[in-house]
Amino acid sequence: MSTIFEKIISGELSSEKVFESETLIAIKDINPQAPVHLLIIPKKAYPSLQEVPKEDLSIMREIIDVSQALAKKFEVADNYRLLTNIGIKAGQSVFHLHFHLIGGKELGPMA
Ligand code: AMP
Repeated sequence: MSTIFEKIISGELSSEKVFESETLIAIKDINPQAPVHLLIIPKKAYPSLQEVPKEDLSIMREIIDVSQALAKKFEVADNYRLLTNIGIKAGQSVFHLHFHLIGGKELGPMA
């Protein structure tokens, strides 16, 4: 069954896209937890970070590269969090790998 992010990637569902390349998209989170809350999503569907095979780990380089660029573009480069939830108990609700880029307010320590 396809996830909501696959529908966004295919264009079936609309989103506020802030970046797109051959391998990744970045969109604004629909339920932002901070003034800047972006989702960086590989187009290839991995259920979570835990399922990315070694031969595909180059996607992580791209994610970091795009995160750094978006943090600058959204003016949070000195104060942001980049995270991915793995598993229901960690808060994952969409089972297609994605990274949250969260900033634009004082974030404080992780809970
Ligand atoms: P997670 O709980 O880590 O799996 O994160 C999923 C995120 O996707 C949540 O922060 C949701 O607010 C966000 N989300 C769900 N549906 C959409 C959507 N249609 N457009 C943008 N963000 C979404």
